[in-house]
Amino acid sequence: MSKRIAVVTGATGGLGTAMCKALVDQGRQVIASHLPGEADTQAAQAWQAEMNGAGYEVAILPLDVTDFEACSNFVATVERDFGAIDVLVNNAGITNDAPLKKMAQDQWLQVINVNLNSMFNMCRQVFEGMCERGFGRIVNISSLNGEKGQFGQSNYAATKAGIYGFTKSIAQEGARKGVTANAVSPGYIDTPMVRQVPEKVLDGIIAGIPVGRLGQPEDIARAVAFLTDDNAGFVTGTNLSVNGGQYM
Ligand code: NAD
Repeated sequence: MSKRIAVVTGATGGLGTAMCKALVDQGRQVIASHLPGEADTQAAQAWQAEMNGAGYEVAILPLDVTDFEACSNFVATVERDFGAIDVLVNNAGITNDAPLKKMAQDQWLQVINVNLNSMFNMCRQVFEGMCERGFGRIVNISSLNGEKGQFGQSNYAATKAGIYGFTKSIAQEGARKGVTANAVSPGYIDTPMVRQVPEKVLDGIIAGIPVGRLGQPEDIARAVAFLTDDNAGFVTGTNLSVNGGQYM
């Protein structure tokens, strides 16, 4: 059987890189996406060279997940050059924090657009084909802070909580067609996104994690690999919290 095609959005970041490696290890043909633009393209090429040099053969294409038309073109290109998409990991995401009383409307809309509208923009392109072919695995990356809320992150938490409703709905729509949809909610993972948090605050966060450490990107990648496995067909509409016990 030819390799299943797996797409990971926002793939060059902290978690995306580990996910791509895990999916390659699982025998997938991985198509990564990176933000368009000259600097991002250069960084993506360096990323791809590093991945390939480490034995992880991945393709990489530009994509802004907030742009519905661009998502449509991206999927058409992947299908033309590689084949139909079997596995979609909606990983691209941003934060743009402020307490509500200081949050600008732009800040709200930007985060909704990248973190939540992207789910529709990408799933809308691949879902029908997956159903027709009788196989699909969709994993939407949410967050601990979508489960519990977080001071200063009303925009981010709203998007990450919104992912649960979206995921459960399409899980119901795909259930009889061999298409699963699940969410993964990382806790605090040792990535550049989390390393931006001031050291004192981060120490306090780690003290509140029962396992006593930050997660590693591989902790999340393993969850994604599990949910996208061919044999995970009975797991759908769920959320897998990977947070060291920080929120139960
Ligand atoms: P990261 O910033 O390293 O990676 C995010 C990626 O998304 C980047 O490659 C960025 O270029 C891309 N991106 C941003 N806007 C985009 C757009 N409009 N179109 C396409 N790509 C875009 O962050 P990360 O830590 O690897 O996070 C990955 C996912 O995991 C995010 O959805 C994030 O919310 C979630 N998450 C991370 C943590 C953590 O501890 N790092 C915790 C909970 C949830």
